[in-house]
Amino acid sequence: MAYITGLTRDRQEWTPQFLKAIDEDLCIGCGRCFKVCSHDVIGPVELDEEDSAKMYMRVANPGRCIGCQACGRTCSKKAFSFEPVPA
Ligand code: SF4
Ligand code: SF4
Repeated sequence: MAYITGLTRDRQEWTPQFLKAIDEDLCIGCGRCFKVCSHDVIGPVELDEEDSAKMYMRVANPGRCIGCQACGRTCSKKAFSFEPVPA
């Protein structure tokens, strides 16, 4: 299967790995991924659970992802999964 590919600055071809999902059970809501994504793909969700509040991240704008995987590198909980996208 052919996937969407890009070019590096020196014209080397590469296959972007686009954000597929964030596991909300693993996410601790630290916000690192939210800060590192320059394309506004990731957004916070706040849950009120009786006396405490929990925050986790969700894939808010999947269509804006460029497949750089920077978000996954910031996540100590390994909550991210990625995939190439068919061309
Ligand atoms: S970096 Fe990982 S643990 Fe932190 S908010 Fe993002 S998904 Fe959650
Ligand atoms: S792969 Fe890159 S563009 Fe996509 S959500 Fe993660 S940091 Fe943002």
